[in-house]
Amino acid sequence: MSKFDYDLFVIGAGSGGVRAARIAAGYGAKVAVAEEYRVGGTCVIRGCVPKKLLVYASRFADDFEDAPGFGWTVGETSFDWAALIAAKDKELSRLEAAYRTNLDRSGVEIIPEHATVEGPNAVKLSGSGKTVTAGKILIATGGTPWMGDDIPGREHVITSNEALELPALPKSIIVAGGGYIAVEFAGIFANLGVDTTLVYRGDKILRGFDEDLRDRLTEAYLKRGINIVTGHIFDRIDKTGTGLAGHLTSGQTLEAEKIMFAIGRTPNTRGLGLQQAGVELGWNGHVVVDEYSKSSVDSIFAVGDVTGRTALTPVAIREGHAFADTEFGGKPRMIEHTFIPTAVFSTPELASIGLPEHEAQERCTRLDVYKASFRPMRATLSGRDERAFMKLLVDGDSGKVIGCHVLGEGAAEIVQMATVAIRLGATKADFDATMALHPTMAEELVTMREKWIAPTEAAG
Ligand code: FAD
Ligand code: NDP
Repeated sequence: MSKFDYDLFVIGAGSGGVRAARIAAGYGAKVAVAEEYRVGGTCVIRGCVPKKLLVYASRFADDFEDAPGFGWTVGETSFDWAALIAAKDKELSRLEAAYRTNLDRSGVEIIPEHATVEGPNAVKLSGSGKTVTAGKILIATGGTPWMGDDIPGREHVITSNEALELPALPKSIIVAGGGYIAVEFAGIFANLGVDTTLVYRGDKILRGFDEDLRDRLTEAYLKRGINIVTGHIFDRIDKTGTGLAGHLTSGQTLEAEKIMFAIGRTPNTRGLGLQQAGVELGWNGHVVVDEYSKSSVDSIFAVGDVTGRTALTPVAIREGHAFADTEFGGKPRMIEHTFIPTAVFSTPELASIGLPEHEAQERCTRLDVYKASFRPMRATLSGRDERAFMKLLVDGDSGKVIGCHVLGEGAAEIVQMATVAIRLGATKADFDATMALHPTMAEELVTMREKWIAPTEAAG
């Protein structure tokens, strides 16, 4: 019999923690998971799922606008935010219950409490004050919105957490940030008719993504009426009679009913007792782990956003699964942190797999670039003035496709499937030999014939 209360104690019932707990229990381990908020974690309760439901809601605006081109007469439309939020909340409760049932069925004990680490094999439960012991502890506590360095008045602003639960749709909003969350929420609010401004400190939103996608999404957002202010950050927020005034480092003041900060997230390690237990933390407070998700303490592991690796749900799930296979299933397994597809659920949507062009240029002695910018078929009748865009990057030496970037309807769905081929090492010749499926957007990826020549090269 084990000298510990549990074989595995997981802190955090989000994407990574739940997967690890269930798989470990499936191997016969005695497992408990502590959750201080709601089972399902960020993705299910405050992230991917509610966000995507709001994205769907916001896109009906385009459908109504496009419908007359297809012969429809759309009567007066109206939108009920409270009804959407209530429907979303019902769905989240259903999902949370399903997560609980799955944990129960796997034999995992759910402890609804805040937990902290008391030592290499001890966890303190804050609610009951009890200390329990475990052979292994898994930190899967995720992250939290970062609010910036002591910006006066920041207590008045909301984050994505509150944005998903607003009692009423604001008339105007300023979203600070230029990453995934800022861009996605600006798109949601703008499509729902909210006067939307995006404030980003750099010169162009979505740093790290392929330049063509950044440029083209910026252009589309501007056309859709989103005001984009670049080069500055807020240094003070004040309350006004009708909302908030945000003072920028440029001296400009922007007013709106709500201001939302989406300026990054920090790992949930503060006050967790990790350093006292000897666990090394990184520059941002993340748990430093090896390729098997083991921390600097042999019995303490970490997966998901708290490790500061790639902060995406499928990655957290894979890390949790690999940890359980390795430690409880006798099947040591590392996770490939390469070939990770990603999407920004803006409208229009964008998605990428592999290197952006600027990085591919540095890696390859010769890079072949294929680009297609076209009017999607739907836009011919709807009259919508928005182009789709696709790009393939090909290593000129090996012929392998090393990057695929898509902007337009269904971009995420297209890139998910392109990832299979690219991960298997598909060459441009393989793409060319693949039969097109017509009429689709994705067929463009298998019918790109002409290499793109930069205007300066073409002139030379
Ligand atoms: P989490 O899911 O964050 O789970 C951590 C859990 O630990 C939480 O439930 C928390 O309450 C609990 N916890 C924390 N501290 C303690 C403690 N001391 N005691 C007990 N419990 C504790 N990713 C995608 O792949 N696609 C998307 O479209 C996407 N959209 C997103 C949209 C938003 C608005 C946000 C915020 C994130 C989004 N993400 C998306 C990222 C994704 O949600 C995360 O990468 C994923 O949830 C990480 O899982 P995790 O297991 O590491 O942590
Ligand atoms: P991101 O890292 O994507 O973006 C943070 C943004 O805030 C960047 O534009 C950054 O600018 C800016 N920023 C950072 N510090 C400051 C500051 N002090 N003042 C002003 N601006 C600042 O984080 P998010 O919070 O948007 O999302 C967190 C993570 O969650 C993402 O990285 C992603 O992994 C995941 N996520 C995934 C989604 C998806 O898959 N669709 C959707 C939502 C989240 P700069 O670029 O100049 O550094």
